[in-house]
Amino acid sequence: MTSTHLNQRTEQTDVVVIGGGIIGLAVAYALAQRGRAVTVVEAARIGERAAAGVAAGMLAPSSEADLSDPRLTTLALASHAAYPAWVADLEQASGVEVGYDATGTLLVALHRDHLALIEHLHAFQVERGLAAERLTGAQARDEEPYLAPGIAGALRMPDAQVDPRRLLRALPLALERAGGRIVEDTRVTAVTRDGDVYEVTTEHDGMASTLRATQVVLAAGAWSRQIALVGLEAATLPMRPVKGQILRLRGERLLRHVIRTPDVYLVPRADGEIVVGASMEEQGFDARPTAGAVHDLLREARRAVPGIAELELAECGVGFRPALRDHLPAIGNIDGAGLFVASGHFRDGVVLAPITARLLADLVCDGRLDALLEPFAPGRFAPASIEVTR
Ligand SMILES: Cc1cc2nc3c(=O)[nH]c(=O)nc-3n(C[C@H](O)[C@H](O)[C@H](O)COP(=O)(O)OP(=O)(O)OC[C@H]3O[C@@H](n4cnc5c(N)ncnc54)[C@H](O)[C@@H]3O)c2cc1C
Repeated sequence: MTSTHLNQRTEQTDVVVIGGGIIGLAVAYALAQRGRAVTVVEAARIGERAAAGVAAGMLAPSSEADLSDPRLTTLALASHAAYPAWVADLEQASGVEVGYDATGTLLVALHRDHLALIEHLHAFQVERGLAAERLTGAQARDEEPYLAPGIAGALRMPDAQVDPRRLLRALPLALERAGGRIVEDTRVTAVTRDGDVYEVTTEHDGMASTLRATQVVLAAGAWSRQIALVGLEAATLPMRPVKGQILRLRGERLLRHVIRTPDVYLVPRADGEIVVGASMEEQGFDARPTAGAVHDLLREARRAVPGIAELELAECGVGFRPALRDHLPAIGNIDGAGLFVASGHFRDGVVLAPITARLLADLVCDGRLDALLEPFAPGRFAPASIEVTR
């Protein structure tokens, strides 16, 4: 991938995408495939700060279906279904294999409380027509011999996984080959409207530049509210970072399925890596890994798969999930003209990338709003008055 800096004080393009995380890159690639001149502006290097640079990559719309908003589950199921074709195109366009694996997930119960939770989830899945199969502890151990001996039961789900780090390598290459451009180490500070054109003010090494575009997509993840929307009819998104700590273990390959308990998940890659995650913390942008979170993750993972104790602890990663007030993404137009947002994907940005990219590209290029996006309109955060009764 070659990345460029802005050479002139003012440049022109069709669409500026602010943020080169998985969502910004996926949207930019979809727009470039439709013939738009797209420039992605990324404050750091691609993958350096993006949540997908640490994410586990579970494509798991049904694992928490009982706890999720049903409209989000519907969107995630549509994206999950689109994944194989999206990945095939991306791999072909980039030459990078992205580790898509549909072996499935085993949600295992380590004790009776877990079993009750699993039975509750299974009843919900049956009611909603979601595919899932109950296994006994012995059946689960036949599938995965490294599971702890005392497993009380399990649920097998046809979820998939992908390696998000590989996606962050593939997407820039595919984007560039489709004619798109990426500008790294350049922070967007403001977006201003000038008639039918938007001026995107950027800062690199203390030097300001301006990119002019007819359309702008705001995809700056947890940082999305830091960009000034000057004089625009757009409500500020109530965005906050939710810190996630996650571990990478390496060694002999122990697992084939993604293993989850209600307290932890273990995502095995073909090369023997196991990703163990993840904490959920309200700590702002504090990027330090902590002893307590690492301890909790390893303790819970070891209870499910004791053999992980022999693996190398290769990495403790920290990422920031972009969370809106209602924990649903905002995907759509925000000013009634050319300014769009794709952000707030919280715990589901990897699974939601293909559908976000396709449906937002439909909206940006053709003005077509798919019904699937209606619950995620960014305008839902416009200030409303609250009547206080005393
Ligand atoms: C520990 C962890 C595990 C996860 N596991 C999963 C999982 O298994 N499955 C799943 O589907 N999802 C998972 N997620 C969630 C998923 O990673 C996120 O929802 C998704 O990556 C968000 O992508 P994004 O592109 O919206 O935001 P980000 O990844 O935050 O990208 C935003 C980008 O914008 C850039 N930026 C910020 N400000 C500016 C600016 N002013 N100018 C220019 N650029 C800017 C940032 O540098 C960043 O690169 C996980 C997240 C974490 C933290």
